[in-house]
Parts: sequence; structure tokens; C-alpha cells
Amino acid sequence: MKPQIEVPFHRPSIGEEEIQEVVRTLRSGWLTTGPRTAAFEQEFRTYVDVSYAQAVNSCTAGLHLSLAALGIGPGMEVITTPLTFCATVNVILHVGATPVLADIGPDGNIDPESVASKITGNTRAIIPVHLAGLPCQMSSLWALARSHGLHVIEDAAHAAGARYMDQPVGGGNSPSGNHSDAAVFSFYATKNLTTGEGGMITTANEALAEKVKILCLHGISKNAWDRYTARGHWYYDVLFPGFKYNLTDIQSAIGLHQLRKLDSFIEARTRYAGLYNHLLDGVEELELPPDRSDSRHAWHLYIPRLRLEDLTITRDDFITALRERGIGTSVHFIPIPLHRFFAAFANRPENQCPRALALYPRLVSLPLYPALSETDVEFVANAVRDILQKSRKRRPVSVARAMTNVSS
Ligand SMILES: *Cc1c(COP(=O)(O)O)cnc(C)c1O
Repeated sequence: MKPQIEVPFHRPSIGEEEIQEVVRTLRSGWLTTGPRTAAFEQEFRTYVDVSYAQAVNSCTAGLHLSLAALGIGPGMEVITTPLTFCATVNVILHVGATPVLADIGPDGNIDPESVASKITGNTRAIIPVHLAGLPCQMSSLWALARSHGLHVIEDAAHAAGARYMDQPVGGGNSPSGNHSDAAVFSFYATKNLTTGEGGMITTANEALAEKVKILCLHGISKNAWDRYTARGHWYYDVLFPGFKYNLTDIQSAIGLHQLRKLDSFIEARTRYAGLYNHLLDGVEELELPPDRSDSRHAWHLYIPRLRLEDLTITRDDFITALRERGIGTSVHFIPIPLHRFFAAFANRPENQCPRALALYPRLVSLPLYPALSETDVEFVANAVRDILQKSRKRRPVSVARAMTNVSS
């Protein structure tokens, strides 16, 4: 019999505020992009301290739009990480460019040294991904981008509410003057801030913001609209073959209230991550998730790493054992080279990423979201401890080695 789920991998935090705002939107008669989307964009701009924010119907759409608006296309290479969701790589292919995989560093994020080694005369952009909500080493990536004339588009799908050093991820008004061309957030159902489906592009670049806005809605120019309103309200002019990537007011109604709660969500996530760290500290078969003291982790995901050499079970056995105890988990991510479609290109010498492939079998994402209780976290941590203790490898060899060391 299937076990009763006690702690699912995710439960959204949707309150009465979101529900009432959606109801008001439905009653207002304005369903698609309108006043609530404009308000959501404005509040998001203020939250991340940036000049421009464009709401879109997914992070995938936002990444695609950013690449297209920056003129990335055929014959150009875009460097990204293998430890990401397939969308990060799909969008590079959608604009006709060539994805290049850099390897990861010890923090699981793209390694700036590996990026440096993969830059060629055709490289035009870097897409770093803040895995789990842990900011990448942006200062090294920005320095590389500056010296090679590259664009940087942050895949900030996990990073709503994260801060890198002195500024919010996606911000453009840092005292240091450093920022990316664009950052793209996801409001997918499981993300830190949700609108069911949705996303946001932030940028400090006015020309890029304008291009993104036009491409987001069929390539129709708002300015052209203004210029020709003399002809009547029916007139519009298409400047580019654009996309249909706009966010509806029904979704923005949810987003407005989610954004106002984001800091309290991050506080809860941080508290539960700290509780996991406390309860799992000293479990030898487990390495706690990476963190950095100079930034604010958004704790979208809690991803400890199994020490497989100390265990008689695999990660998949571990996931099954947790499932049998009613605990939902996930894996972030199946590295890009392991997907059938990407295998051929990932086999090329320039796309080798052995560290990502070695880390993958050790990764497991435990439940982490504001709707958890401390009891839930304790229940999960106890189950993790118990399963790992029962699966500990006996190590007579290392004992013998220790004794040899003593006698010599
Ligand atoms: C969720 C996710 C995306 C895609 O976000 P959507 O809003 O679903 O399009 C992109 N990149 C990463 C790393 C993600 O986790």
C-alpha cells in the first residue's frame, strides 16, 4: 500500500489576501495585463532596487526574451552551468545560439575559472544560475564579462529575495556599479514567490528594457501606438516578430501579495534551513548544503550531499526510504549532459563537466518551504539520520590503517 504522505516536497503559501485580490481582479472586468501587472512590476522594481522590471508569463519566457533582445543568435556561444533546469539551455537553442557548459565549483554554482577556460571568440553571454538561491560568484563573473565584452543574464529562478554582497539579486543600483544586463525570476508554483506560473525580468538598461517590452507582446510598439492614436484606437504597428509572453492581472494579483510576504517567507526558509543544519550536523554520511557569509541565501532549496563512499545505499534508495516514511524529496538537477537530447552536444570536449556529473548522484533536495512546521523539519531530519545510520558502511580497512599509523 502507498504510504500516507506526511511531509510533501512542497506546499504553497497562499493566503486570504491573494485569494481576495484574485476575486477582485475577476470582478473588475480586467483580466489580462493591466493595472495589477503594472503595480506588481513597480513593487518588484522597488524590492530589488532596479530601474526596470518586465513581468512575463514564465522565467523561461524571460530568459528567451532577454537573449533575443540582446541580439544573441546563430554563430554565437552562451556559457551556462550543467546543473540547472533544462529551460536555461533550451532558450539558448531557441535563439539559434550554441550553449557551452562550464563546470561547477564546490558550491554547486558555475565556476568562474571554468567559464574563463571556455570563452572563445564566439562567446557573447554567460547565464549563471543561483542554484537553490545561493548567489553565484558574481564579482568574478562580472570581471570576466567586462574584460571579454560579454553579456550576463542571471537565471534567478531560485533567487527571489537573495542578496549578493551589497545588493539584492537582480538589482541594478549597487554602489559598486556592478550589475548584470538582466536577471530573470520564476514565479512557478514551487518557487519562493509564486503566481502559479510567471516570471520577471529586471534590468538597469533602458534600451534593453524597451526592447524586452516590445518583444514581450508581439513586437508591437507602444510608441507607434501613441504616434498613431490620431488614426483611432484600433491602430498598432509591429516592429519585430515578437512573442506572447505577458503576465495576466489574475496572476499579478497573486504576485502582489506574495511579494509583500517574500521577506517573511525567506525568514521562515532560513530558520528551517538552520534547524536542518543543526539537527543534521555531525551525521557523517551527509555533507550540509553550501552557504556564503557575505550574501543572503534565499533558501529556495535545501540540498545536502550524501557521502556515498560511507553508505551501502544509493541516493535513489535513500529517496525511496524517505518516501516509505511519508517524506517527499526531489533532485536538483539531472545534469544537462544526461538528457537524451543534449547528450550529443554535451559529449564535445568543450562541454566536459566532470564535477557536476560526480556531484549529481549525491544530491537530494529535502522539503523546505514556509508552510512547514518545526515538527515537520524534526520529523524529516530524524528520518534522514535514522536511514543513514542503518545504511552506514562498516570500515574495517580504515581501522586497520589507523592502527598501522599508530604503530609506525
Ligand atoms: C524553475 C526554473 C526555471 C524555469 O522557470 P519557469 O518559470 O517555470 O519557466 C529556469 N531555471 C531554473 C534554474 C529553474 O529552477
